Amino acid sequence: MSVPQNIVVIGAGLAGAKTAESLRKHGHTGSITLVGEETHLPYERPPLSKEYLSGEVSFEDALVRPEQWYAEQDIDLRRGVRATAIDRTARTVALDDGTTLPYDALVLATGSSSRRSELPGADADGVLYLRTREDSDAIRPLAAEGTRIVVIGGGWIGLEVAAVTRSGGAEVTVLERGHLPLARLLGDEIAQVYADLHREKGVELLTDAEAAEILVQDGRATGVRLQDGRALEADAVVVGIGAIPHLELAEAAGLDVAEGGVAVDATLRSSDPAIFAVGDIAAHQHPLLGRRVRVEHWATALNQPKAVARTILGDAAEYTELPYFYTDQFDLGMEYLGSAPQDQVAEVVVRGDLAAREFLAFWRDRDGVILAVMAVNIWDVIDVIKPLLTERRAVDPARLTDPSVELADL
Ligand code: NAP
Repeated sequence: MSVPQNIVVIGAGLAGAKTAESLRKHGHTGSITLVGEETHLPYERPPLSKEYLSGEVSFEDALVRPEQWYAEQDIDLRRGVRATAIDRTARTVALDDGTTLPYDALVLATGSSSRRSELPGADADGVLYLRTREDSDAIRPLAAEGTRIVVIGGGWIGLEVAAVTRSGGAEVTVLERGHLPLARLLGDEIAQVYADLHREKGVELLTDAEAAEILVQDGRATGVRLQDGRALEADAVVVGIGAIPHLELAEAAGLDVAEGGVAVDATLRSSDPAIFAVGDIAAHQHPLLGRRVRVEHWATALNQPKAVARTILGDAAEYTELPYFYTDQFDLGMEYLGSAPQDQVAEVVVRGDLAAREFLAFWRDRDGVILAVMAVNIWDVIDVIKPLLTERRAVDPARLTDPSVELADL
């Protein structure tokens, strides 16, 4: 494929904006059109459930770039516009404002939406989700004394929203349908750390608790009834039950899909050589992990664009970064690197103090190879540990847990 002149990026979140930025950085001089459904400038989402929600940072702090930057970079940012169809034969994208954009290369960065609750009463006022700036703005006033909140779902959104609103003084109940929040991802021992943290801070964490109905009066949510019959009163219900990637365009265009995303190769190219995918929707054939992964986290949206820009501009670059994410909940800050599917994990090895919430956890497979690491309240170590994961090295667990062995010597 010759070097493309017209590049269209659909989706103006972090992944889309970074793709535009990386294309310019890597010397693309042709046109770049960045199309986004939201009316805001591209922004980062992690603060929406952390420092922006708590009011510590402003929305401007969350912007990927200030407004004038797009003009300076000659990036045609179209806000409040939705792409409705891709014509792969004509190589055009139709927008809902009636425009048709021709492309030589097309990048899909369409992200996800919150999974909606199907419970009776879920359409009532006061049933809230967290994905956009407006969502975060709607939840922020709840972080106050005297407010009662029920959170459905003990995933990242549920726990981060619980931490911020509880810290603001609200009475917060989290409903987790499993026996521990995050257990499927982290295993019981580490998941228990998060459960203990929330309970210590005064969150009522109900496990094996499944909502049956959102209670509604005069069109407003007043609480939640559980499947076991218990009724919880609430001023608002926050639902954090996962994300649904936006695949409609890709599917309608007949692109291959896999793992709930657009199937892309190691260089992020889809089954159509002129179309690429990055961020939440990219089901990426990961060269180090040797399998397809789709990662719904900030770092993927931040980093995949650098690789995709190089590939589009003719310097085929495999995306090799391992999945990375972080969370802040109360006084617990955590970074996680790697991928440890439960069926591959043989054991979790801990270095440090679980009870003090200052530790490293290593997920190891049957051969002792480290699949993932989590650093809790320990900073600047992930990059030191990273080679253990990228080189898939087996490490003696006695050395892993021995604080006298420097991490760099592992
Ligand atoms: P999530 O992390 O996937 O967690 C969803 C939780 O909801 C899981 O505990 C899941 O339980 C539960 N659940 C799913 N369906 C349910 C249902 N019908 N009833 C009750 N519980 C249900 O998703 P999220 O917390 O909603 O976050 C949305 C997206 O934002 C995710 O992609 C997440 O990665 C991202 N995010 C990331 C961060 C971070 O990296 N710090 C922070 C916020 C959001 P099961 O495990 O039993 O299915």
